Amino acid sequence: MIRSAAGPGAGLGLGAGGRLSLGGNVVRKNILTTEQEEQHLVAVKDNYLKLQGEIKLWQQEHASSLAADFRLEPASPRFTLDNLPEESIIDLWQRLNQVADEPQEKADLRTLLEQFKQGESLDNAAAARLQLALAGVAQMLCQHLVPKPGEDNQPFGTCPVCGEKHFMTLLAPPVGKRYQQCLVCGYQRPVDASGCACCGSMDAKKQTYLKSEQYPGLEVAVCSDCGSYFKQVDLRKLSVDDLVWEDIRTMPLNYAAEKWLAGQHGWN
Ligand SMILES: [Zn+2]
Ligand SMILES: [Zn+2]
Repeated sequence: MIRSAAGPGAGLGLGAGGRLSLGGNVVRKNILTTEQEEQHLVAVKDNYLKLQGEIKLWQQEHASSLAADFRLEPASPRFTLDNLPEESIIDLWQRLNQVADEPQEKADLRTLLEQFKQGESLDNAAAARLQLALAGVAQMLCQHLVPKPGEDNQPFGTCPVCGEKHFMTLLAPPVGKRYQQCLVCGYQRPVDASGCACCGSMDAKKQTYLKSEQYPGLEVAVCSDCGSYFKQVDLRKLSVDDLVWEDIRTMPLNYAAEKWLAGQHGWN
């Protein structure tokens, strides 16, 4: 079973465990202030943008044929990463590997995909590009086949379109209406203004919002009811073009949230 818990962008930083290797201790205030760390982030972003550019090209070339051939499930989730068209994934993955100057034959990629589905871990960079390929195919199907949600708030939790649980919440101008956006397929739906977007807990005492001067306009909501955390962006304070990049850029906050949950409370 394919899970995208680490997110489609994780691993692009080539750090251990599929995470950005920004280095340093997350409790420091000057997480990104050293020249070396800033250079590293610039390189990670260049790499990310290059791969995203290729994904957009591929999507333009394949959107109509893929959408015409694919059937959504009648109920949620409308598809899963397991049942995406495998040849499309392999094709896009191969393109991303070419762009990264690490070309591989499709037959080899098929074998690797099979291993990945069986739960074996892949080389970090290859796995990151596979996650991007999965997301690229999922986004295209979501965009072309899934109707836009109405204004009624929908339940928190896993994505009703792709069934994944890797998301951010957004507070939209002008009044801060809250949306939950899947970072895999890109589906965005309106949700309640309060409550844990992972488990739906409405107990305000169980939820802590962590902020850092380093990342204005963004906070991490940590829920002690379900032991999860998620990021929330206030679009009234911060303009964000690409939520997946925002998630990657703010990866040090993940460590802080994990420390918080582990009881170390190592925040600033
Ligand atoms: Zn989704
Ligand atoms: Zn929760």
